[in-house]
Amino acid sequence: MNRVSTLPDFSRLEVAMDQWSAPFWQAGGEHRLVMPRCTACATFRWPPGPFCPTCRAKAVAWVPPGAARIHSFTILAQPGADKDAPPQWRMPTLVEFADAPGVRLVSVLIDAPCDAVAIGDPVEIVWQPAANALVPVFRLRG
Ligand SMILES: [Zn+2]
Repeated sequence: MNRVSTLPDFSRLEVAMDQWSAPFWQAGGEHRLVMPRCTACATFRWPPGPFCPTCRAKAVAWVPPGAARIHSFTILAQPGADKDAPPQWRMPTLVEFADAPGVRLVSVLIDAPCDAVAIGDPVEIVWQPAANALVPVFRLRG
């Protein structure tokens, strides 16, 4: 069977933002991925929050987290519109980054052959429109 992962419909997804995550979504609106890194001890703070989990400092710099690769994934079949329609294949994926140890972003992998994906595969970001923001999804790089 030729199973290829597809993009979920995000058109009605309202992204929840707060004062700590707003810079992430603002940069995403410009197709840039940045994450908060503590300016005192260099720990990435993900998800964004008011204090560093390591040293309790408040200040952060928003920086790119480096090259992305698959940390983990699963494959789901979403039923088609009727009983004879083929399913849509979805791949919820945890993405990790070369320069941000311990940081994992929950996303989806799109346009991927489901039977040929492996943990550690390099991926690249594709920003997709939701109701109030662009959201990061990924596809295999190369
Ligand atoms: Zn810190």
